[in-house]
Amino acid sequence: MKRIILMATIVINSMIGMAQVNWQSNRVGMAFARQGGETPEGTFRFTTGGYEVFTIQSSDKSFQPASLYYGENNADRAKVDAMAPDGEVPTSMNCFVVKTPEGFIMFDTGLPASKGGKTVERLASLQSSPKAITAIYLTHGHFDHIGGLIDDKGNAVYANANVYVPAAELAFIRESMGEAATQIEKAYKNRLVVFEPGNMLPGNVLPISAKGHTPGHTAYRLGQLLFVGDLMHGYEIQLLDPTICASYDADRSEAIDTRNRLLNYAVANSLTVLCAHVPNNGVIF
Ligand SMILES: [Zn+2]
Repeated sequence: MKRIILMATIVINSMIGMAQVNWQSNRVGMAFARQGGETPEGTFRFTTGGYEVFTIQSSDKSFQPASLYYGENNADRAKVDAMAPDGEVPTSMNCFVVKTPEGFIMFDTGLPASKGGKTVERLASLQSSPKAITAIYLTHGHFDHIGGLIDDKGNAVYANANVYVPAAELAFIRESMGEAATQIEKAYKNRLVVFEPGNMLPGNVLPISAKGHTPGHTAYRLGQLLFVGDLMHGYEIQLLDPTICASYDADRSEAIDTRNRLLNYAVANSLTVLCAHVPNNGVIF
């Protein structure tokens, strides 16, 4: 209930261009993180919606410049500077592992170790390994989300996982990643499952179109969990004003529509929202 009131306040405030919500006093994510006790550096464990969730930070980067949010012709600069007076916005680079009755499943992979990615190292610190992962659901094809699928020789890092990729995003990956796309497709061959959003995937994971950031950007619902990939990059700004985009959003107006639609969907269904670039355990609310 508290969550619904918070979100309704945020949506109303953003509609009238105000920013009154004190997010610092609503760190639901931190409360979840504390449930799990101590976990190794760069990892979090919490239980929500009946699932045990592990957040793995693939990188230690924790701040980004506020100027990423200034918009076309600096249209949003004044708003952003007011919300981020230090010129920096907290960030992270998360992937998520969920324990399900069928096995451990994963949402995105982070960067490869050869590019400083820490996903595999941190899986090991949690007494796990890539072999334990049975399914990987990709939110989109940027390198910080799919680069970790292969090692520096082009071999599959996740030997036992099916990899689910939205059709529109596979086209984008082929177009934008060149050789790395070919390597990924070769490494996963018949374990690469291409789908259209809307139909339930194995593991009771429902893909929901979240295009805007990229053409095939996709969110995934698992029970009461909603994994939203790059729906936001700077939650301290964009939760207060979802009309502000990071420069990474390919289609800004589509990204804004999607942000509003999915945040409202999450509130209406009391979902826990997990985002790739939100600090700590990645829970937005
Ligand atoms: Zn990203």
